[in-house]
Amino acid sequence: MGVLDSQMPRIDLTRRFCQLGHAHAKIVATIGPASAGILGELVDAGMSVARINFSHGTADDHRNMVAAIRAIAVEKHTPIGILADIRGPKLRLGRIPGGRMLLNDGDLVELREGPGPFPAPKDAGGLSPIPIDVAGIDEKLEVGHRVYLADGVVELVIEERDGKVGHPARVRRGGVISDGKGVHMPETPLELAVPTEADIKDLALASELGVDFVGVSYVSAGAEIDAVRKLIPEALIVAKIERARALENIEEILKAADGIMVARGDLGVEVELEEVPMVQKSLIQMALRAGKFTITATEMLESMVSSSRPTRAEVTDVANAVLDGTDAVMLSAETAVGKYPVDSVGAMDRIARAVEASQYYQDLPKVGFRSSESTFSNAAALAAAHASDALSLGKIICFTKTGNTVRLMSRYRPHAEIIALSPNRRTLARMTVLAHVRPMYCEQMPTLEDMLDEASRDLLARGLVQQGEQVVFVAGVPPGVASTTNVLKLHRIGDPIKLA
Ligand code: PGA
Ligand code: MN
Repeated sequence: MGVLDSQMPRIDLTRRFCQLGHAHAKIVATIGPASAGILGELVDAGMSVARINFSHGTADDHRNMVAAIRAIAVEKHTPIGILADIRGPKLRLGRIPGGRMLLNDGDLVELREGPGPFPAPKDAGGLSPIPIDVAGIDEKLEVGHRVYLADGVVELVIEERDGKVGHPARVRRGGVISDGKGVHMPETPLELAVPTEADIKDLALASELGVDFVGVSYVSAGAEIDAVRKLIPEALIVAKIERARALENIEEILKAADGIMVARGDLGVEVELEEVPMVQKSLIQMALRAGKFTITATEMLESMVSSSRPTRAEVTDVANAVLDGTDAVMLSAETAVGKYPVDSVGAMDRIARAVEASQYYQDLPKVGFRSSESTFSNAAALAAAHASDALSLGKIICFTKTGNTVRLMSRYRPHAEIIALSPNRRTLARMTVLAHVRPMYCEQMPTLEDMLDEASRDLLARGLVQQGEQVVFVAGVPPGVASTTNVLKLHRIGDPIKLA
């Protein structure tokens, strides 16, 4: 075998660890007009987290949507996570006379702070004013700063100022801009407070609705995550990494958040587009090592907004995100407003399953023990992962009160599926984003023996384990108390369960 051969991914379709059910990687689908009425079909196709974009719709819309998702979860007997995505301090253009404007390469224009519209210049040599509806740019914009308009379509560079009101800017890459489109100023040190006043209102609603995850847009520092958490302590906080400043402060953000979103849409404006793939890989690796989960987002199957089949490049993008180690892949417009929402979810699920069936995926390097979390739970999580891999077991069955042990175990990416059993509905919903985890409801039992016995019988009845199959049980005694994971039992299904 040549050098190249030995490096080639080997596809082994006989070793499918995930024959029943969906892929190990999770699917987050944005709910919108195209999908609000077909939630059950999305679940059947593989959606495990529903994302509600709080940038669109009213409080009543969100209320109805949460109720509909909860109802489907009950109907389908499966936990579904709800992610409320709050808008954050998005920078926007103000109003342009006529609503639209074409900027040509090389044009000199004038950026002005305010909502506009500003009247066109009276004198012939005057510069066209472009309203930037962001407070504070007058003090912070400096010569040489790049400004992107209309979500990156147009690129400008600030030129020498002549002492007047606005900021002269040269068009480096032209295009059409229109009212309210997104603005990015990656080099300008604006104080964009997260959460904004609108975010605080949205968080109050999200808290009232009992959502499981909150996505926080345009985060730049760990303290912002702390501030959001104070307002909604019961939800898991997902820091959307979409600003250059977030990359600078990534360590403290990872510390403060429960998970991150690789928000490639805005990120692709703030850093050079060609840097996005490597940034994605480092973010996912850093999150895994920090014990946090990752959602990889935006344009994953973009062509499926209008086409029933994805492009080869999109299929490869989803596959690569799974190979990078992401917990979840996300659909935005594809499921919110696209023509093929169910097919989009189904395509993602099949792509992830094909990756996960490969020897190449199973041979990927895993993260090691995180010594900063030297707890029984973390050690039990690692031991269970190692034991199941060593014996090629298909299932780790983990009883969890808070989901903490399961989160840790998922970081170690055992080949086995982690069946996460909990009597707590909130805990189950919070585990829906974790790769390799299947959250399932179970009753609370008085003793550990009863719990193992009941779980074995239940999983047998559902066809999730076979008579005689070897599994790993992970639990805590006394049962039902948080943070007591301390038992790892290797067990053959059907054998009597006697611990003493
Ligand atoms: P958005 O976030 O869709 O809310 O903008 C995701 C991204 O920017 O990629
Ligand atoms: Mn974004």
